[in-house]
Amino acid sequence: MKVDYIIVGSGLAGILFCEVLREHGKTFLVIDDDSQQSSTVAGGLYNPVILKRFTEVWMATKQLELALPMYHALEKDLGITLDYKVPIYRLFASIEEQNNWFAACDKPNLASHLSTQIIPNSNPAINSDYGFGEVLQTGRIHTSVLVSAYKNRLKANGSFLEESFDFEQLDDGEEVVYKDYRAQHIVFAEGFGLVQNPYFKYLPLKPTKGELLTIHAPDLNIDYILKSSVFLTPLGDDLYLVGATYEWNDLSNTTTIAAKEELLAKLRTILKCEFSVVDQVAGVRPTVKDRRPLVGQHPERKNVYVLNGLGTRGVMIAPYVAHELYDCIENNKALNSEIDIKRFI
Ligand SMILES: Cc1cc2nc3c(=O)[nH]c(=O)nc-3n(C[C@H](O)[C@H](O)[C@H](O)COP(=O)(O)OP(=O)(O)OC[C@H]3O[C@@H](n4cnc5c(N)ncnc54)[C@H](O)[C@@H]3O)c2cc1C
Repeated sequence: MKVDYIIVGSGLAGILFCEVLREHGKTFLVIDDDSQQSSTVAGGLYNPVILKRFTEVWMATKQLELALPMYHALEKDLGITLDYKVPIYRLFASIEEQNNWFAACDKPNLASHLSTQIIPNSNPAINSDYGFGEVLQTGRIHTSVLVSAYKNRLKANGSFLEESFDFEQLDDGEEVVYKDYRAQHIVFAEGFGLVQNPYFKYLPLKPTKGELLTIHAPDLNIDYILKSSVFLTPLGDDLYLVGATYEWNDLSNTTTIAAKEELLAKLRTILKCEFSVVDQVAGVRPTVKDRRPLVGQHPERKNVYVLNGLGTRGVMIAPYVAHELYDCIENNKALNSEIDIKRFI
């Protein structure tokens, strides 16, 4: 079988790259072994502001401009709902934080993302004396629905191989040959799986495990995402996603009691109502030392590419890096030097 591209990985990076290929009429085969689950467990939030320091996320406006139309096109195409437009309310812990918020509202790059109104707290279930600030242009992409619907379509089209990529079977000469498949290019989008990839394991991934709880809180009644020491995201039916944790030593996909206790301790400082835990998930984020994606061509193998390092914000970054990589391969356009893996040679 001959295709234009082989993609290894069907998380956000792989899927959004496939979508760019589809837009341009390219053919592809996707290989995935379900070894990583960052994209399936992710909270899926998109938010242009770093709410700890009140600064803009790197290239936030550009990323959102590209990302939302792509997710909306996927909704139409796959017949699913992905984009839940939910405001984020940043809980203020002090007058000083309110003042910092107003200072941030005056910054030209943040003005369009932050509301200048302080919202007083009228919810008896929430512990807040200083109210909230609302972040604009935020929401949640239902990433697990996307991954599962996308894989189903790939399987139905015969474009999916469910297996671990076998590097011994790869011949990357003038064209890429893998088992019975021939392609012009191969793109590795393996998330944390990158550390096993002989071509790219030299890249400085600094993976971070994250865990999330789902709680049932019938008296909470909020229809916004509450951001305090954790994010509390409404899922409907009185269920809320709580998270996430950050862990650099244990890089398994296994949930832990320690993470559950950490999240519950934080939650108890925010909530005054009763709640119970109904689920817990874990995954490993492909974070990078310099906090920028890892995109580009292998230094010696001209048909071999990497699309990785989406870090803590895969929802917003994946569409941007997918376009960048496509333009680099097909249109010979130089990559943004901040994401190009040449910075590590
Ligand atoms: C707890 C948690 C919460 C998060 N919350 C958010 C959030 O709210 N908003 C946000 O934007 N981001 C969030 N993220 C980050 C986001 O999930 C990641 O940035 C994104 O999912 C990374 O996508 P990826 O495709 O690069 O990697 P992955 O999702 O890990 O996908 C890689 C794929 O490659 C496959 N693979 C790997 N190696 C091989 C191999 N050798 N052979 C075959 N297949 C292979 C894996 O099975 C996997 O399917 C969160 C992450 C976690 C863990």
